[in-house]
Amino acid sequence: MRVAVVGGGVAGLSACIQLAADGAEVILVEARDTLGGMARMRNTGDWVIDPGLHLMRKKGPLNQLLRKLRAPRVIGEQFRQMDFFSISSDRNDGLSKLENMSISSTSKVSTEFIIPRGGWSSIIGRLIVAVNQLNVEIYVGEKVESIILQNKKVQSIIVNGKKIHCDKIVLAIPPSEAAPLLKSIGLKTSKLDSCEPQLSAALDMAIEAKVMSPYSGIFDPKSGVIAIDIAQKDRIPPGREADECSIIHAVNLRGDGNNALEEIKNLLDSRCAGWRSHLSKRRSTPSIMIHPCTLEQRIQASVYASSGIILAGAHVISDYTLSDASVSTGRNASKLIHH
Ligand SMILES: Cc1cc2nc3c(=O)[nH]c(=O)nc-3n(C[C@H](O)[C@H](O)[C@H](O)COP(=O)(O)OP(=O)(O)OC[C@H]3O[C@@H](n4cnc5c(N)ncnc54)[C@H](O)[C@@H]3O)c2cc1C
Repeated sequence: MRVAVVGGGVAGLSACIQLAADGAEVILVEARDTLGGMARMRNTGDWVIDPGLHLMRKKGPLNQLLRKLRAPRVIGEQFRQMDFFSISSDRNDGLSKLENMSISSTSKVSTEFIIPRGGWSSIIGRLIVAVNQLNVEIYVGEKVESIILQNKKVQSIIVNGKKIHCDKIVLAIPPSEAAPLLKSIGLKTSKLDSCEPQLSAALDMAIEAKVMSPYSGIFDPKSGVIAIDIAQKDRIPPGREADECSIIHAVNLRGDGNNALEEIKNLLDSRCAGWRSHLSKRRSTPSIMIHPCTLEQRIQASVYASSGIILAGAHVISDYTLSDASVSTGRNASKLIHH
């Protein structure tokens, strides 16, 4: 069976690995020039600055997959959860927000977080190595423009005007990208259309001083800002000490825009004295999508299964959220395809 995986983020890469391991012939098509999607590598010189506040759950599907791929060098130190500080509230309140990256989260915190060695680029790198080892045919920088059905079943995809034959598709792209492709072949997309992306302002910085000490993270329930310091030996330039540098990732879980960004800076001004004067690198993002929809808006993976199309990604129903949901739904897509 020839399966086309559309989208080379965490969900698409996980789907490719599982499908190929289960014996399918797999094609991966990614529109951007690099694989990794929201967690893709960005050049930040000698500092390893992740694309946003990325922590990995110790017992989550992503860590399980990395262990299966025997990637011990990727699995780094644990985040110092005991040193996380929630202003005027319980530490677990802030940790539950950190766990799900959502202000509405009230889950009991049982999760331990891992700070991946070498940043998320090392995780993506490991997934790409696996995809290559499993002989997945990869098209990067090429967008899937449309899907062709024959007798109401997938027959091929059109990539840059070229027709590529496939028997099934895993659509591992956000709802806003998936809906037009499905609409054009006459499928109903009202559930995908009603997904409301959850947007945040984000600030990622390298600082030549330990400005958040003694805390590993801060949460302010009033503004909704969460900030963590994950400086580690493998993330800082040679010759510097991890206990003299900060790598701060902050998001405003209440929303996006310049005001939301200002609120992050205000929190840092009040709690991390000296961050401005010791700043070495900064990436400000007024608006970035953290979740493709709310938890209630998530969709069944198999809604389009009768046409040979399976959905994967954080907008698909699973027991997990964020990248763990992407991995879980990506791997599950193989099971659904084979059934
Ligand atoms: C600031 C921030 C902080 C975060 N923190 C955490 C965290 O602490 N822990 C955690 O687990 N997760 C975190 N996340 C979430 C995590 O990054 C995402 O859940 C995960 O990366 C989503 O992966 P995905 O593969 O489902 O989707 P995406 O990464 O969106 O991948 C979809 C891919 O499909 C491609 N594509 C789209 N349309 C087409 C097309 N027509 N043809 C071909 N390709 C196409 C896109 O280019 C993209 O590469 C965070 C996200 C942000 C923004």
